[in-house]
Amino acid sequence: MSIEVQHITKLYKDQKALDDISFKVKNAEIVGFLGPNGAGKSTMMKILTTYIEASEGTAKVNGFDVNSDKKKVQSSVGYLPEHNPLYTDLYVKEYLNFNANVYGTSKSRIDEVIKLTGLSPEAHKKISQLSKGYRQRVGLANALLHNPEVLILDEPTTGLDPNQLVDIRNLIKNIGKEKTVFLSTHIMQEVEAMCDRVIIINKGKIVADKYLKDLRAGQEQIVIVEFDYRVEDAFLLKLPKVTSVKNTHDFIYEITFSTSEDMRSHVFDFAHDNGLKILQLHQKNTSLESLFREMTSST
Ligand code: ADP
Ligand code: MG
Repeated sequence: MSIEVQHITKLYKDQKALDDISFKVKNAEIVGFLGPNGAGKSTMMKILTTYIEASEGTAKVNGFDVNSDKKKVQSSVGYLPEHNPLYTDLYVKEYLNFNANVYGTSKSRIDEVIKLTGLSPEAHKKISQLSKGYRQRVGLANALLHNPEVLILDEPTTGLDPNQLVDIRNLIKNIGKEKTVFLSTHIMQEVEAMCDRVIIINKGKIVADKYLKDLRAGQEQIVIVEFDYRVEDAFLLKLPKVTSVKNTHDFIYEITFSTSEDMRSHVFDFAHDNGLKILQLHQKNTSLESLFREMTSST
């Protein structure tokens, strides 16, 4: 297991920025940590990279405890912090050289990460002369210097233009073939474009944890039906493959099925057999987009 988080809570004074968070990330997975601003994403990442300590709970990265084995955690993770702080007065090579010395990495590794992150054409420039996209590459190159097992990237694509976005996403996807990548974003398209799995966080709590292939395959389906009269939930629960029934409004029901087969005809037959009339019948979108909206809309 690359990342193991157990019951992490983080208090800033009396505000709970993280509230009993638990999850695991397997080797070489690309996991998107998705949530609105203020959800607690950066706080979680700072704990995993040992920059701050949790108030309660434990976390391990690459098998090492973030509290008792800080040094080993640090050598296991590459971290791109939010806003990517760089020394902009330095030349790209100078900057990477400086950090390579801090890490004790070989000089040949600098050329390797420059190549890996596509920095070669800009490597002779001052960081202040680079576009935002290339600055992100410098941040990524820096995070990769000590060849860590796990990459923790805090909003790596924020502020990039559409072309830069595509480039950085491809780069991260490529890196993710070998390394575990845990990246945060508040943009769900980002997760769709890059990740194997999404963990959605809202107000310090995990509200969803799904593999995108399951979301795409539509292994779950919600049918919305309006009858002309009230129906007992227990009655609807007799439908095949039904997992739950919710009466959302007057005679409107949301019926969840555990199948990708279109279940609307079953609902139609059910109504017919029981002398009910159907006023509306459709499938609810169970895409990442609707999941995100449902899980993070404030009430
Ligand atoms: P995200 O990265 O998802 O936008 P953060 O982890 O940065 O969220 O913040 C989560 C919550 O914790 C926010 O309400 C934020 O204001 C608060 N917070 C973050 N850092 C601190 C801090 N150092 N002191 C006090 N409150 C903080
Ligand atoms: Mg943040």
